[in-house]
Amino acid sequence: MVTRREFLKGSAVAALGAGGLASAQSVGAGAAGAKAAAGAATNLPASVPAKAAAGAAAKAVAGAWDAHVAIPASVPWRRFEVEAALYAWDLHDEGVEQVLDNVQGMAAVNSVYIIGLMHPERRPETSATFPHNPVRPFWVAEDARANWFFDPKRYGRIKPRASDFAWLADTDWTRVFVDAARKRGLRVGFEFSHSLVDKQRVEGEFADLANRNIHGEITHVRDWLRPVCPNHKDTREYAVAAYTEVVEKYQVDWVESAMVLMDEAVGGSPARGGGCFCAACKQAAPGFGVDLEKIQAALLKDPAAQPELAQWLQFRYDSVDAFYKMLHAAVHKAKPGIVLRYNMHAKNPRDWGVDIVQLKPQLDALRIQDYSEQTGQAAAMEGKRTWLTEERRSLGPEFNVVSGVAVRPRATPELIRQGVGIAVETKMNGIMLGFYDGADFANLRAIREGLAGAGLHPSD
Ligand SMILES: [Zn+2]
Repeated sequence: MVTRREFLKGSAVAALGAGGLASAQSVGAGAAGAKAAAGAATNLPASVPAKAAAGAAAKAVAGAWDAHVAIPASVPWRRFEVEAALYAWDLHDEGVEQVLDNVQGMAAVNSVYIIGLMHPERRPETSATFPHNPVRPFWVAEDARANWFFDPKRYGRIKPRASDFAWLADTDWTRVFVDAARKRGLRVGFEFSHSLVDKQRVEGEFADLANRNIHGEITHVRDWLRPVCPNHKDTREYAVAAYTEVVEKYQVDWVESAMVLMDEAVGGSPARGGGCFCAACKQAAPGFGVDLEKIQAALLKDPAAQPELAQWLQFRYDSVDAFYKMLHAAVHKAKPGIVLRYNMHAKNPRDWGVDIVQLKPQLDALRIQDYSEQTGQAAAMEGKRTWLTEERRSLGPEFNVVSGVAVRPRATPELIRQGVGIAVETKMNGIMLGFYDGADFANLRAIREGLAGAGLHPSD
């Protein structure tokens, strides 16, 4: 296998000094990570025996299921999808074959995707430690690092940024993942998560790309997120290069966007966050039939001024729509039949510049990020049913929609079985497990039980 370092030897990225960035970054992050990990392990002694037991259970369970698992070798997109989302570090730590054995065996997964560009987040997200990772208690995902081998020559001004850690950067984890999944006849996808470009570069060399709030500042609704503007030509060039590279190189079945292109306008108002008023937007605005300078002046005086507020919100929807129109064409040119899926990562997509119904023509599928099961509350399940029902109604019966089902704490097997049932009853095309890394095995098995309870059997 060609390592990342060999791959980059003599390349433009080496000239750019990716190695320099990596070493500068990894000292701090690595040391802090190790210290925190050690702290967590000593603070939570109970997790050690639990983890060892879980490891043994994993082997036993995977072995037991192997005997009678009969998932179809290739699952047409319109059949019910049971998806697991995975990370490069899951594959490194547990081993790709073990991970796939677990999700197929326990949860009847027939489709997998790698979140190959993640935002900074402590994993597992909702609990202190991984329940079955044999290597580390947790991992702090780096900001927008490429877990695929990229060819710098494909890119313009913005190039992907590799991990600061050799064990992540020196292996093409997307290749490892896709090859292993294909051998098993699984469908395979790739997700770009919320931050397309890391905060450090967005606040530095790419500051001209950053979403700007009504005061002209780089938006900072969340400490870790600095969205780049969909109207900036370099954002568009980079997104097209990255998406088409992944699609062409790995021939995935679908590519998913959870990207934030317009920072959250909290409560639908420019008063609290919300892009974008950058120079590129002002230049693009006449093409969308508005004068953004005029809108900005009015909203600075009164953030609720009409018709300027409505015009600004529509300008955001139109900007995001135009971006996806371009991206949709590019990925379909790269691979006819590819599925471009949008991950509806919030219940208030309009506050993020996304009008789902307007955006529908630019998409092939949608994932609803509903994780009601992890509230641990039976009452929350009606909220799930309502949300899924509403989206199915607004998108129509033919559109491909997959719902999340949380399998991590505090979800219980009972709530998970209910969640699967609700997804089937509301006519979803599938479910996505959120998330393998934090799920104990009883919760994974509840997926298979829930499918059977809803009349779906993996061998059908
Ligand atoms: Zn902008």
